[in-house]
Amino acid sequence: MKFDIPRFKTPWKISLEDHYQTPATLEFAAKYATGSREAWQRLSSNLLDFTKQRLEQMDQTGVELAILSLAPGTENIYDKRRSIEVARRSNDAVADAMRKNPDRFLSFAALPLQDPEEAIKELARCVKELGFVGALISGFSQIGEEDTSYYLDIPMFRQFWAEVEKLDVPVYLHPREPLLSQQKPYEGHPWLLGAAWAFGVETATHALRLIGSGLFDQYPGLRIILGHLGEGLPFSIWRFEHRNELDPRGMNLKKKASVYFYENFYVTTSGNFRTQALINTILEMGADRILYSTDYPYESMVECEEWFRTVDISLEDQIKIGRLNTRKLLKLETRLAKLPKAA
Ligand code: ZN
Repeated sequence: MKFDIPRFKTPWKISLEDHYQTPATLEFAAKYATGSREAWQRLSSNLLDFTKQRLEQMDQTGVELAILSLAPGTENIYDKRRSIEVARRSNDAVADAMRKNPDRFLSFAALPLQDPEEAIKELARCVKELGFVGALISGFSQIGEEDTSYYLDIPMFRQFWAEVEKLDVPVYLHPREPLLSQQKPYEGHPWLLGAAWAFGVETATHALRLIGSGLFDQYPGLRIILGHLGEGLPFSIWRFEHRNELDPRGMNLKKKASVYFYENFYVTTSGNFRTQALINTILEMGADRILYSTDYPYESMVECEEWFRTVDISLEDQIKIGRLNTRKLLKLETRLAKLPKAA
């Protein structure tokens, strides 16, 4: 690895939303290729790669370490047994990539939430045996039938969350497309689907379900990471709280809704390279809760780094967001003691 340190205002960064696929799961990503055949070839090659262009771009943009994750993941495999198998095989494949490049890759586990007991076992295996640093879950799970959506706040997942808290690892709540049967508001407007709009609405709603359900009163140690500068929530959490204080409609929490957002959530810069939005997020949550990320290969590492290095915030905050907050959150100090220190 060759870092040209003076090029980077923040010489080393850690990125938490870096996706991969295996040949067995590549089909999930097909609909996210933008347009041409060439675009799909490029995207699929980037998703499958662990040794070449991914590392080259990390070197080029000063990313010392990427936390890899399967996305789209196993949440859309409504056959239970297959979801268990695919999660396990994907985790084994990425564990192999970690072993080959231990100072450049770590991973979030893919989990078969279709069977919460199995998801608990797989997360424990990944964290305790394979050295993973948490899990990435792409939204609701489909179980048994295609037109089903099981959100993570419902009672069947409470034991899962108890184990997550015990293992003391964060969960990255990643977007996914709403079910076809739930896409009525988007009918005739395909440009509203996917990362442009529907992902954010879907994921922000899911995060608010977690807050409103009292999950964090029950398991206060949970830490949830949201991408895309918090899927719009830093901008709208005050209004959510304000309206529910006037009329709680059954929401019964020990703390103000925004406090859970500030205490139990982190957000990353993935796919939202916008200074105004970042500054709003810093004002709302503080710089200690924001983590550098790209959303590679659906977004460009180069575009992300070119934006981040010119962002008009203090160097101290830039270094925190770039790497220090993540080192703390993922307890990387001991694991990465051999890596060079930040400038
Ligand atoms: Zn992503």
